[in-house]
Amino acid sequence: MEQNLLHASKLEAVGRLTGGIAHDFNNMLSVVIGNLDLLQKAIKGNAKAETRVRMAMEGAQRCADLTHRLLAFSRRQPLQVSVIDVGALMPGLLELMRRTLGERINVSLDVADNVYPIEVDRAQLEAALLNLAVNARDAMPEGGDLLISVGTQTLEEGKVEHPGDYVVISVSDTGIGMSAEVLQRVFEPFFTTKESGKGTGLGLSMVYGFVQQSHGHVEIDSAPSQGTTIRIFLPRAYGTAESLNEKQTVFAKPFG
Ligand code: ADP
Repeated sequence: MEQNLLHASKLEAVGRLTGGIAHDFNNMLSVVIGNLDLLQKAIKGNAKAETRVRMAMEGAQRCADLTHRLLAFSRRQPLQVSVIDVGALMPGLLELMRRTLGERINVSLDVADNVYPIEVDRAQLEAALLNLAVNARDAMPEGGDLLISVGTQTLEEGKVEHPGDYVVISVSDTGIGMSAEVLQRVFEPFFTTKESGKGTGLGLSMVYGFVQQSHGHVEIDSAPSQGTTIRIFLPRAYGTAESLNEKQTVFAKPFG
């Protein structure tokens, strides 16, 4: 638990800091992109100059993409909570994963019978699972298997703050796995082992933030050359179908 609190407060501090920087950076970047756009029009016909401006534009667009992600990471985002049947959501998400990951990754799904409903932000859940899938792909450069399984588990006191019934979504890969040193740091914002430009180190921090906000729990099993399994536990939703399906918006702190 102490470790969790430490992560949450670190996330909050880093979130505030990056939010401020990303916001100013984004404003300056829009000046660069705007002028590159004008320049692009002005030099039409000069192939060499056009190539150079296009390359500058692509670099600036990548920066813009990163600042947007940083802003999304740091912003106080309202949670759009609704009741979700994870089993029903999965086939569509799997399709998206297959398209995103490419042919070398063999994606399969195993959903247990009678999985409880959960009450979470659907877009954030999908983004979190997609993040895990992309990490799995990056851990399997030669290709491999990605298994998503959905089941239920009762968690005892001591393991989680709120003991009770949980839906468990596991994402397992047959990739390179993680050393104990990497495993210790994976939830740290900006921690990445990927080469410059490939990783932001924000993926698992975002997953962690989402799970915390949803009153869940996350676990990782991994060892070098043994692959990785990440399990997300999300609390079972109770109530009648009608009361559960009324949509609601909850404004929560970004992390913790
Ligand atoms: P990023 O993907 O941008 O590096 P993440 O926070 O998603 O940021 O991941 C942090 C680090 O955790 C990765 O750089 C990698 O070292 C490790 N990691 C995450 N998922 C996996 C995985 N499925 N297999 C092996 N290593 C992983």
